[in-house]
Amino acid sequence: MTAQDNSRPATISPAQATAHAKLIATAQAHRETGRPVPCTGPNRTAWIQDRDADMGHAVDQCHACPVLEPCTDYALTHAEPAGVWGGLTPARRAELRRAAARPAAA
Ligand code: SF4
Repeated sequence: MTAQDNSRPATISPAQATAHAKLIATAQAHRETGRPVPCTGPNRTAWIQDRDADMGHAVDQCHACPVLEPCTDYALTHAEPAGVWGGLTPARRAELRRAAARPAAA
């Protein structure tokens, strides 16, 4: 498999692929409003890379997405382990989850 393929790498589980497909379907509904959803375009494999270092383009594109906020919420709520969601890499989501789990300072 190459980065140019539109198929998913083996590191994405069937459940993750299903969840991502559902979000993409929601995003496609928003696209009808005239604001494109970047991860539904022809370069969608940029969102599903094995290394965070290879996800910069996808992260940048997410910030123009009309469903950025619900996508971020979904990814953090469901502890999505792979791929870019809501402009966040897996490492960044893990940082945010750890920070949220820490007790607040007195
Ligand atoms: S925020 Fe990013 S990952 Fe989420 S739907 Fe938009 S482009 Fe896709």
